[in-house]
Amino acid sequence: MPFAQLGLHPLILKAIKSVGYSEPTPIQRRAIPVILEGNDLIGAAQTGTGKTAAFILPLLSQMIDGPHRLRALVLTPTRELAAQITANGKAYGKYSRLNIGAVYGGVPIGPQERMLRHEGVDLLVATPGRLLDLNTRQSVSLDDVEVLVLDEADRMVDMGFAPDLRRILKLLPPPRDRQTLMFSATMPKELNAVAKESMIDPVRIDLAPQSRPAAGITQAIYPVPRNLKVDLLDELLSQIELHSVIVFTRTKRGADRLARLLVKRGHPTAAIHGDRTQGQRERALLDLKRGRVRILVATDIASRGIDVRGISHVINYDVPHTPDDYIHRIGRTGRVDAVGDAFTLMAPEERDELAAIERALGRTLPRVMLPDFDYKMRPAEIGQSMRGEAPERHRESRGRPSAHGRPESRGRSGAPAGEGRPRSTTGHSGTPSTRTEDRPAATSRPGETPSQPAAAVHGRGPRRSQPTDRRGRGRW
Ligand code: AMP
Repeated sequence: MPFAQLGLHPLILKAIKSVGYSEPTPIQRRAIPVILEGNDLIGAAQTGTGKTAAFILPLLSQMIDGPHRLRALVLTPTRELAAQITANGKAYGKYSRLNIGAVYGGVPIGPQERMLRHEGVDLLVATPGRLLDLNTRQSVSLDDVEVLVLDEADRMVDMGFAPDLRRILKLLPPPRDRQTLMFSATMPKELNAVAKESMIDPVRIDLAPQSRPAAGITQAIYPVPRNLKVDLLDELLSQIELHSVIVFTRTKRGADRLARLLVKRGHPTAAIHGDRTQGQRERALLDLKRGRVRILVATDIASRGIDVRGISHVINYDVPHTPDDYIHRIGRTGRVDAVGDAFTLMAPEERDELAAIERALGRTLPRVMLPDFDYKMRPAEIGQSMRGEAPERHRESRGRPSAHGRPESRGRSGAPAGEGRPRSTTGHSGTPSTRTEDRPAATSRPGETPSQPAAAVHGRGPRRSQPTDRRGRGRW
């Protein structure tokens, strides 16, 4: 179905053509008519499938011929996402006379005040804290807002943001006098009180039924003792044909530390997290987008919504706390029709978190060993650990539909994921779909007795001097 059949304004259609979209994505096909009819909407769609355009295009269409005042408000959890949505909005609205602006913290408030007071905006994209500051300073009134959009809505209505959101909701016209749209890749079936109170009889479009990541993402787990994670990551980064990679850590300090270590080991790396200034955050993203660095170490601040084309790999240095965090993190790769790889380094003590993620995904992810990496264990021990033969673990997973180690998805070549050298499936390297080529004998997967000679699994012998983590043995 072409965009022209969705009921969008001709000037918006012209802009869509100029940005090069040939047809709407599924969430756009479903959501745009519902929004144009004026319904409240809850839209769940996988990461990177065009959700932003799904709400911005109909909003701009509706406002294009109307009076100039602040009529649409988009709330997002992070500054980067606010900046990104604004940039998209400006591209989609470029043939209209609509003003689209953003307000978020971490940068001086003065220019944002001047923009709101003197230029005025029709559509404002905001993070909650800065919006409230500006309202307190009487620089912005929300009285005329006709449409409220909560992007990454599950995050916006959760405990951290709910107090600010409640304050903002009080400043807006009541739900019966406005349209409310909520979008996320992970929308719980049961909405919490804040979400319920802010909508009237919403239409629900659910294109991400089981918190399922986008189809193009190939996932693998790399079991490794915690104290060898940096070494394994270093080795992975050296072996994979990466275009660009986001490495997620749980803590801000952990992100800084890891970025420093990677730089020391010869990998140009930037870091992004909540303690960095807005300037540093923007520079880090820009450096990644422009290819000045290929590795970005990030906390979950970058896990939601950030759209950088060509992220070939996401690597979870730490297993994410929740399945939703996992979905959002790995959604930074495999965007739109692209493919990408998502690797998770799992220490024995992170097994429970991974088990929760696998339960949410409804399948067990393949365990993969890095050839030539010195795990500082005897091959038999690794094989044992990889098969999950630690007593409780084995009992837990026995009889599951997808046994340990059966690859859950396939690369474009149709080759099972997680086999062979961890090459990119994205084609950025110029060697697309090479998973089956040159498959080294050393890779083994859990659920299979490692059939390779011991030395192959064990690699080249000691490379670095970290002590063996004996506590980790046999506990994967
Ligand atoms: P989003 O899920 O909104 O972050 O969008 C992911 C990416 O999809 C962005 O780079 C958009 O520019 C792109 N995109 C959105 N809609 C379409 C479309 N209909 N066709 C091709 N690309 C699109």
